[in-house]
Amino acid sequence: MLKRVGIIGAGISGLTSGYALREQGLEVDLYERSGSINEFGAGITLSKNATSLLRDLGLFDSIAANGVFPGKSYIRDYKNCDVINSMELDDNFLTVDRRDLVDQIAIRFQGIKGNIHFNKEVTSICPSTGSISFSNHHDESYDLILVCDGIRSSLRDSHFGAQKPKFTNYIAWRGMTEKENLPQFDDSEKVNVYYGPGSHWVHYPIGRDGMINFVAIERNPNWSEESWKVEGDKLSFLKSFKGWNEDLISMANSSEKLYRWGVFERPLPKSLFNGKAVLMGDAAHPMVPFLGQGGCLAIEDAYCLSSLIRKIKDLNQILGVFDQMRNKRSRWIQKRSRLQGIFNHISNPILTPMRNFIAKVSMRSSVTKIHSYNLNEELSLKINSKL
Ligand SMILES: Cc1cc2nc3c(=O)[nH]c(=O)nc-3n(C[C@H](O)[C@H](O)[C@H](O)COP(=O)(O)OP(=O)(O)OC[C@H]3O[C@@H](n4cnc5c(N)ncnc54)[C@H](O)[C@@H]3O)c2cc1C
Repeated sequence: MLKRVGIIGAGISGLTSGYALREQGLEVDLYERSGSINEFGAGITLSKNATSLLRDLGLFDSIAANGVFPGKSYIRDYKNCDVINSMELDDNFLTVDRRDLVDQIAIRFQGIKGNIHFNKEVTSICPSTGSISFSNHHDESYDLILVCDGIRSSLRDSHFGAQKPKFTNYIAWRGMTEKENLPQFDDSEKVNVYYGPGSHWVHYPIGRDGMINFVAIERNPNWSEESWKVEGDKLSFLKSFKGWNEDLISMANSSEKLYRWGVFERPLPKSLFNGKAVLMGDAAHPMVPFLGQGGCLAIEDAYCLSSLIRKIKDLNQILGVFDQMRNKRSRWIQKRSRLQGIFNHISNPILTPMRNFIAKVSMRSSVTKIHSYNLNEELSLKINSKL
């Protein structure tokens, strides 16, 4: 019988898992190497496949209270901002500041006596015994270990195969600005995506202080920084996006700071579990962010595992079903995100009108296919076949 769970990493996946497991009465210890919740100020979009689960977990309302329902999204041309296509979004699509998302989940987790141990760096785990070791040589033992330590997971290196994160030749520039700096056209405060040659942008409101989050992605094979999140200089930014609409450029220029971010990916391991240890979130399936699904999948992972634990007694069976379900779904989304990257960054002027036409006729159906995934339905099928 599963009683004690140790979780490594207080990001979206560790915290959501912690909350969902603690809520069903398990003893949960969450270890975070930083001194506090470590999220940076940037936006995140959450679609129905994740928000419906947050609703089931009772977490949605407090997160939504800090976020925005943007109501509509547009795809536009990078130069004249003309609309290529648009789509209504209902109140299952939320945009929010990442700090508010994780803070809210952390508050709720601690509110039900979930333990977050800050400044606790996990140095190693033993998947066969369930023990976790820390830098001060202290050990703790658990019935199950959730490895939620992000894309650069060192524990994954040691226990799940050695594929390293790989630079994808995409660089993301991120910043925040006030609403007044948005381009002056109708609905510029909604979700707006722009297609340009070899690059694309997206901006949306995040709720906190009325701010707007923007991300500009360029294809660029040169990434030399050791860190993948550094402050970028505005001159290089202007050089990368020469020819883009002037109002967009001035919006980006109005951001106090611009961050430059190498986008990395890592293939899924053959199996998401090893003994009593299981990989979740970016430690398991980091992906290029062009469908806005990495955090959503971390929430799906958390919900899936906690539901299996609630319904199935045997740990091997729980982890076997989790692996089957999450490996298939995340592999598919990882691949779709990669294809979306190719689609968004077409630069050949002959192919661009074709790409825009496809975006016009298929935007709704391709987005719906991803957002309408019903995890509960798949869980019922799998659980019933095991009972
Ligand atoms: C540019 C960009 C835009 C994105 N936009 C979206 C979006 O709109 N929607 C969406 O759903 N997703 C988006 N994502 C993806 C999303 O940000 C990630 O998938 C998500 O944050 C992963 O959460 P995580 O908890 O798995 O990992 P992380 O957030 O990386 O958390 C890992 C935690 O583990 C801790 N840790 C690491 N090692 C140790 C250790 N040894 N001991 C203890 N603690 C440790 C770290 O300090 C950290 O707190 C985007 C990503 C990028 C790069």
